[in-house]
Amino acid sequence: QAVTMEKMVAFCKRRGFVYQSSEIYGGLRSSYDYGPLGVEMKRNIKEEWWRSTVHMRDDVVGLDAAIIMHPKVWEASGHTATFNDMLVESRTSKRRYRADHLIEDATGIDAEGLSPEELTKIIQEDDRVKDPVDGGRDFAPVRPFNLMFETYMGPVKSDENLAYLRPETAQGIFVNFKNVTQTSRVKVPFGIAQQGKSFRNEITPGNFIFRTREFEQMEMEFFVEPGTDEEWHEYWIEERWNWYLNLGIREENLRRYEHPKEKLSHYSKRTVDIEYNYPFAGWSELEGVANRTDYDLKQHAEHSGENLEYIDQTTNNRYYPYVIEPAVGPDRIMLAFLMDAYTEEEVNGEERTVLKLHPRIAPTKAAVFPLSKKQPVSTIARELYDDLKGDYRLFYDDSGSIGRRYRRQDEAGTPFCVTVDFDTIEDKQVTIRDRDTLKQERIPIKAVRDRLKDLISG
Ligand code: ATP
Repeated sequence: QAVTMEKMVAFCKRRGFVYQSSEIYGGLRSSYDYGPLGVEMKRNIKEEWWRSTVHMRDDVVGLDAAIIMHPKVWEASGHTATFNDMLVESRTSKRRYRADHLIEDATGIDAEGLSPEELTKIIQEDDRVKDPVDGGRDFAPVRPFNLMFETYMGPVKSDENLAYLRPETAQGIFVNFKNVTQTSRVKVPFGIAQQGKSFRNEITPGNFIFRTREFEQMEMEFFVEPGTDEEWHEYWIEERWNWYLNLGIREENLRRYEHPKEKLSHYSKRTVDIEYNYPFAGWSELEGVANRTDYDLKQHAEHSGENLEYIDQTTNNRYYPYVIEPAVGPDRIMLAFLMDAYTEEEVNGEERTVLKLHPRIAPTKAAVFPLSKKQPVSTIARELYDDLKGDYRLFYDDSGSIGRRYRRQDEAGTPFCVTVDFDTIEDKQVTIRDRDTLKQERIPIKAVRDRLKDLISG
């Protein structure tokens, strides 16, 4: 049985995964802070993405561009003119809604991508569309609302100092295309990967960390020769799909969604989303994999006056590469992993809550328990802990019964618990307990490091 959102939010707070931002001041809507377990888990997600996308490959390099870029970047990319959501305001409750969502929720009509005029017409004519707060039907005409956060660079708040917080990380990659090709030894086909914060002034943020105004993204722009783009697109959809499966997401909770041709973004030739079946919202975008064509590089070439063509050194051919882009947010991934892993079950007549997270994603990799606080059991346990803690996040716990300590770690998703008991003094062996199977194995202390390494890499 799937966990409800309410339960997940309460669980995340109670166990220190995610807190409401500025909670002591009543909380800031749609802003969240990651607690001690949450920050470890999110770092692991980003680390796994970076490892598989950059380190494990010979054809991808990394980048870390600034959040505030030259305002012309957003003109060239089309964001200033078209990065809009359709806003509708209720004249009675004064509430603002995303017009396409309001229509979809009330009628089931897929209204994404319709013009303000088309949306206004539907809202006026279809009396199923009501203000969810007071049931009223008096709406102002729909208008586009730009989602970019504005700020000013320097002490003067003037038009020429207007700047934006980036709404996506991708543009930082495109504007550095020339730098990277000239200063590293990349050759098409190759990719540039980036992780970092993005900001969108969403009209209706919500569903916990699924949609917030400040969030992180992990994007990779993979540059290919035109004509090979469709094949590479398929390749990256497959790669990203398998990434989730390899990290333990249940396949029945994933599906592909093909964007209909008429609803593609202005830069896209084809986009396929990997959707996750979130219990609170049904199938929703987890990740988008887009064929962005040569749109962005050509736009930046035109607006900057720089030639951004790629020169093939072996054939001397010059061309604008096509771009395949897998784009995803670690916050959204984290929610999917948590939902997928959360389990309430009965073992030996007792209820337990357990997060069955893949060991690579689990916030804490292992816990070390001395059975007793007495010497030398506790000294041996402490030595083992100190010896291993530089390798990954470990947890030391010597308080409460062993059963209670196990339950705490089950809830935190810790895959392995290592217990030092009285027999350890004589046989120099410890017990490793597996979170999911509950099986215990006894191995020499000296073998713990290698054994845990094997178990964690899964
Ligand atoms: P949506 O349709 O859900 O608004 P999108 O199609 O606008 O998403 P993209 O621009 O493709 O999203 O961004 C790539 C990825 O960044 C998304 O798949 C998602 O994982 C993440 N992302 C986008 N917007 C948000 C947000 N407001 N909060 C959290 N993550 C987000």
